[in-house]
Amino acid sequence: MSDAPKSTAPKSLARRPAWPTSVSRPVVTPLQPSVVYSSPDPDGLDQQYEDGSGFTYAREGHPNATVLAQKIDSLEGVDGGIITGSGMSAVGAVFLGVLQAGDHIIGADQLYGRTLRLMTEDLPKFGVDTTLADPTDADAIAAAIQPNTKMVVVEVVSNPTIRVADMEGIAKLCHDRGLLLMVDNTFTTPRSYLPFENGADIVIHSVTKLLAGHSDATLGYAVAKDPALMDKINVANVTWGLTPSPFDCWLAERGLQSFDLRYDRAEATATALSEALSGLDGVTKVLHPSRPDHPDHNRVAQVLGHRPGNMMSFEVAGGRAAANALTNAARDLPFAPTLGDVGTTLSHPASSSHRALTEEGRAALGISEGFFRVSVGLEDPQLLIDELTHAIAESQKA
Ligand SMILES: *Cc1c(COP(=O)(O)O)cnc(C)c1O
Repeated sequence: MSDAPKSTAPKSLARRPAWPTSVSRPVVTPLQPSVVYSSPDPDGLDQQYEDGSGFTYAREGHPNATVLAQKIDSLEGVDGGIITGSGMSAVGAVFLGVLQAGDHIIGADQLYGRTLRLMTEDLPKFGVDTTLADPTDADAIAAAIQPNTKMVVVEVVSNPTIRVADMEGIAKLCHDRGLLLMVDNTFTTPRSYLPFENGADIVIHSVTKLLAGHSDATLGYAVAKDPALMDKINVANVTWGLTPSPFDCWLAERGLQSFDLRYDRAEATATALSEALSGLDGVTKVLHPSRPDHPDHNRVAQVLGHRPGNMMSFEVAGGRAAANALTNAARDLPFAPTLGDVGTTLSHPASSSHRALTEEGRAALGISEGFFRVSVGLEDPQLLIDELTHAIAESQKA
C-alpha cells in the first residue's frame, strides 16, 4: 500500500479507446477525418512508405479519397485514379506531373476559362508554351503541332457553345504523332463518353459538377492509363498539396450514388426543353446535341452515342435588355455560373465566363448578349418548360 495521494489523472495516455471491433461492417462509407495515422514501429512505417500498404498523413492520401477514386475509376473503366481538391487542381496535377520546361501543348480553343488561363498565362512562366486550336477540326489541331508538342487537351463538348469535338480524328492524330491525349470529361461524364475506349491517355473531371451533383463539394479527379505517368501525377498532387478534404470526398461519394439516375433524367429534360424552346417566338438559336440542326450533327451519334447530356444553350433576340428581362422573369431559376447541380441553373456567358473577351471575340464564338446557357437539373420537366417559356415571352416585351 502506498502513501501517495490518489491521482485523479487519466489512467492512460491514449487519446481515445480502441476502435470498437464488429463482425458486421457499416453499409455507408465511414467519414475518416484523421490527418495522421500512427504506425506500429519504424519497420512498419518503412514498409508503408515502400509498398503503400497504409495511410500516414492525409495530404498523402486518406480512405475517403481512395474509395471515391475507385468509384470514379469504375465508371471510367480504368484503375489508379486520384482525387484532387478541385477540377482545376486535377488539371494542375496533370500539367505539373507530365510537363517540363521546353514542352509545348495544344489546347482546344474553347476550354473551360480557368484551364485556358492556366495554359496561356501560367504555364509560359515555367517554360511551357501553348497553342489553341479548333477541336471540331482535327486538321486545325494537326497544324498546331510543333517538334516539342507533348500533349493535346480537349473537352468533348464545349462550354457554352455546345460544339462536339472531332474526338475520333484527334485521337487518331495523337496516336499517329505520339502525343498524349488529355480529355476533360466533366460535361460529358462517362455516361455520354468513355475517353479510354476512344484513345485517351489521361482523363480529368471537375467532380464538383455532375458527378457529385449537389453543389456542396469542390473536387477533381485525374487518371492516366500509363502507371508511370499516373505515379508522376500523384506525386505532383501530394507535393503541391492539391489533395482533397475527406468530408468533400464523403459528400461526393453520396452524390455519386444517384449520378446515373440524375444524368438520365436531366438529359431527357434537356432534350424536351430544347424541343420546346426551338419553336418559340424570339428564340433565334437552340444548341443541344439532340437537335438535328446542331452544327456538329454529323458526328454527334458517333461521339456521344445518342447521349446528348444535360447542357444546352439558347439565344433570344433583343440583346442585353431582353437578357435582363428574361432573368428577372425566371424567378425560380438561379442565375448562377455553375453546372451539374440537382437544380437547373441559368448562366449568361457575356456577363460572366466570357466577359473578358471583346464583343468581336464573343461574336466569333456566337455568344451574343441574348445568349444563355442552361444546366438542366431534376425539376418537373413541364414546370421548367413553362417557366422558361414565360421568361422568354417577357424578354420579348422588353
Ligand atoms: C468547372 C470545370 C472545371 C474546373 O473545376 P472546379 O471544380 O471548379 O475547379 C474544369 N473543367 C470544366 C469543363 C468545368 O466545367
